[in-house]
Amino acid sequence: MADKQKLADQIRSNVEMAKEGEKKRKGGKTGLPKSASSNAYVAPHRHCTICQCPIAKKREPPVCGDSKCEDEFESRQRQRKRWNMLLYIAPAIMIGALVLQLMAST
Ligand SMILES: [Zn+2]
Repeated sequence: MADKQKLADQIRSNVEMAKEGEKKRKGGKTGLPKSASSNAYVAPHRHCTICQCPIAKKREPPVCGDSKCEDEFESRQRQRKRWNMLLYIAPAIMIGALVLQLMAST
């Protein structure tokens, strides 16, 4: 019985420790050093959505200067817009069909 109590205590302390660790990690999401003087420091940046090479953080659209990437990004954007439109149109058509059915049955 005493052993069980001990085990429970140990588990509880482990959980506390894990919580502490989480709190510490929350400061820097990636665990990378924040100061620019450190060797592992990575300046804030983002990646080209097409080829993933690092680009300036505020760059819009988020692609590198490559014309291939720009074209690809454009076509992806167009495709996304088409999908968004479809997402609105599909339920509208379904509702329209339902209404037509209801009107036909009366
Ligand atoms: Zn690129």
